Amino acid sequence: MEGAKRIVLTGHRGPDGDAVGACLALWNHLQENNIESTVVLPDPYPEFIHWMNGHEKIVLHSDKPNLADELVTQAEVLFVLDYNDSSRVGDLQDALLKTEAFTVMIDHHQKPSDFVDMMFSDSSSCSTCEMVYRLIEKWGEASVISQSTAECIYCGIMTDTGSFRFPSVTPKTHLIAAALCETGMDHSAVHARVYDNNREGKLKLVGYALSEKLCVFPEFHAAIISLTAEELERFGYKKGDTEGLVNTALSIEGINFAAFIHESSDRVKMSFRSVGEFSVSEFSAKYFGGGGHHNAAGGASHDSLDDVFKKIVSLLPEYAKDLDYPAP
Ligand code: 5GP
Ligand code: MN
Repeated sequence: MEGAKRIVLTGHRGPDGDAVGACLALWNHLQENNIESTVVLPDPYPEFIHWMNGHEKIVLHSDKPNLADELVTQAEVLFVLDYNDSSRVGDLQDALLKTEAFTVMIDHHQKPSDFVDMMFSDSSSCSTCEMVYRLIEKWGEASVISQSTAECIYCGIMTDTGSFRFPSVTPKTHLIAAALCETGMDHSAVHARVYDNNREGKLKLVGYALSEKLCVFPEFHAAIISLTAEELERFGYKKGDTEGLVNTALSIEGINFAAFIHESSDRVKMSFRSVGEFSVSEFSAKYFGGGGHHNAAGGASHDSLDDVFKKIVSLLPEYAKDLDYPAP
């Protein structure tokens, strides 16, 4: 890679803490080793991750489509980070499929598509950021990870594991977190930047969603929250405001499947979560062309919000048996 002049790091549409964290962790680490690269993302990411070092240099396709397309098509080495199918990059897809760059995937989602030249795919890994750490470790450079790089990796692991609580967290994850703290990085500040920066509108939106829009189906051990574009606008919705809402629905006693669906610009976006055996990635892939992980997945549809809601409800009886096991 040392010889390559044009290195581009990409993440998925609707970038989250893990996608942005992985891109900027590599960006920072490479830069510290005198290797220039550029992060190109399809569209904006939540404000609660606007603090990562280098974030202001990210090129968004939604802001600068020509520049983003040019960077991707003319890259010599291109990293595919935190996604495993070209359809996950939205409007960047054409450029991604056209590029003659040597492409390297680092990802932890299930069922990767083979559209890259080199694939690091590990669906047992809790996050792409954990895999980025392991890669840097393999390069023999773990001991020189900077605080800036450490913060990015820590943030990705933290946000993809519900703050180190999901079953995907292993002893190695904690060892990595410990190593990141050893760099002098302030882990508590990372938590505060991500979780303690609520706006009034966001809290009121969450309150409204829980008090007015939460539908519980106890007989099917399921809960669904839906929000229209008008409802989101009413509370001054900003990207990231509804993150975690689906987990709150899942936290209800006896509920083992939760869905959060909302209208976004051109589609209905879905988030699915489950506890235990029921695979939401299979469910999402089968009915909504989506995917993700066994217990956390997503999808999108061009049907109306109402139709998506009804479709999910109509599928519940079929799955009720799978969802009927004691909650942990
Ligand atoms: P979230 O519900 O937090 O947006 O996403 C949960 C998981 O599912 C994440 O790992 C995310 O990357 C994945 N995911 C979300 N939306 C989609 C989608 O439309 N298609 C696929 N294949 N995966 C998705
Ligand atoms: Mn991830």
